[in-house]
Amino acid sequence: MTQALDICIRGGGIVGSTLALLLARGRLRVGLVARAAAAPERDTPASGDVRAYALNAKSRALFESLRCWPDAQHATEVLAMQVKGDDGGMVNFSASELKVPGLTWIVDVPALETRLAEAVRFQAEIERLDAPQPAALTVICEGRASSTRSEFGIDFDVTPYPQTAIAARLQCEKPHGQTAFQWFSQGEILAFLPLDGPQGNSVGIVWSVQKTRVEALLSASANDFCQQLELASEGHLGKLKLISGRSAWPLQSAQAKRWIGTPAGGAWVLAGDAAHNVHPLAGQGLNLGLSDAAALAAILGQREYWRKLDDERLLRRYERSRKAEVLLMDATMDGLQGLFSRGGAGWQAARNWGMIGFEHSGPIKQWVARRAMGS
Ligand SMILES: Cc1cc2nc3c(=O)[nH]c(=O)nc-3n(C[C@H](O)[C@H](O)[C@H](O)COP(=O)(O)OP(=O)(O)OC[C@H]3O[C@@H](n4cnc5c(N)ncnc54)[C@H](O)[C@@H]3O)c2cc1C
Repeated sequence: MTQALDICIRGGGIVGSTLALLLARGRLRVGLVARAAAAPERDTPASGDVRAYALNAKSRALFESLRCWPDAQHATEVLAMQVKGDDGGMVNFSASELKVPGLTWIVDVPALETRLAEAVRFQAEIERLDAPQPAALTVICEGRASSTRSEFGIDFDVTPYPQTAIAARLQCEKPHGQTAFQWFSQGEILAFLPLDGPQGNSVGIVWSVQKTRVEALLSASANDFCQQLELASEGHLGKLKLISGRSAWPLQSAQAKRWIGTPAGGAWVLAGDAAHNVHPLAGQGLNLGLSDAAALAAILGQREYWRKLDDERLLRRYERSRKAEVLLMDATMDGLQGLFSRGGAGWQAARNWGMIGFEHSGPIKQWVARRAMGS
């Protein structure tokens, strides 16, 4: 007979698996209901998994502590970032200026998921499940379309953005030089994320484009698609070659009204994208989800000996400790996205003037950069 579970985690994506490993390390008996990763809304044939995420120093330390951080080829250290506006505005960040080894790391998601899956397999306290089982506490990590969240009647306020993100991988004529690039132009945002280590010349792209352009960009020939990217990136990395399929995700900002509940049938908690979605323009969604996992594991691990895992006060501590940071990040991403979506010469001049001012703002720029780095 199987042992009773302390915690049942529904959803074995990156947040769910990380949480399972953290709780198991704290000697809790964990059930992990995993199934294949959620597919993008739309992708071209044989697109494979094109996801590459920017993870900050805090997330890196968390994965290192679990021995799941991928090797340097699959976690490219970013030494500089260049953000360009649509009328001469520019902001630069550099690791040496901020006196940190790296601003962020661009992580190959399949490589990270493989490391996590291996760690889960070798952790005796984690039982992989095909269906949920009763436990003192259920943690819902099923991502943005969570069915358990709906089943439990938890309100999820969704504000769709007018853009969809297209992701793909490119080989570039010039090496990326460990620099991440971002271009803002007429409500669209293009990011080039350096891949394949320090000497690499391939990038992952995240291109947030108006919904009306998505179909045309997905069905364009590889040549046409690359030509449009060369234009949008001002030829910065030279000639581009598509080396993957193209996947698309509609973008939204979303917040669960409640993150915890203690009904008679069993207590529950939300974490990761099941609790919140933010615009990916600063690559913060997963970093926030990982901070949820770390906070929940720490609060449960450090609970007073007489408190049970489903103690409402304990769970409220978690909700309080995470909601403020997530709301601030969401408001910041939403504000930036809105600012760069507005038409009209006045707004264009104002935002580019703002970027120039920010570039020279010294301590304010440093403070913002450090927040994004998770410190
Ligand atoms: C285009 C784009 C670019 C992004 N770039 C970045 C970035 O650079 N940096 C960053 O930090 N974040 C980024 N994000 C955000 C990041 O993708 C998410 O925050 C992250 O994937 C959330 O992880 P999760 O584990 O909470 O959810 P998910 O990744 O959605 O995983 C949920 C898991 O639960 C499973 N599941 C669902 N329903 C059930 C069920 N009923 N039973 C069992 N299992 C279930 C799914 O199959 C999946 O495996 C980006 C997002 C987008 C759209």
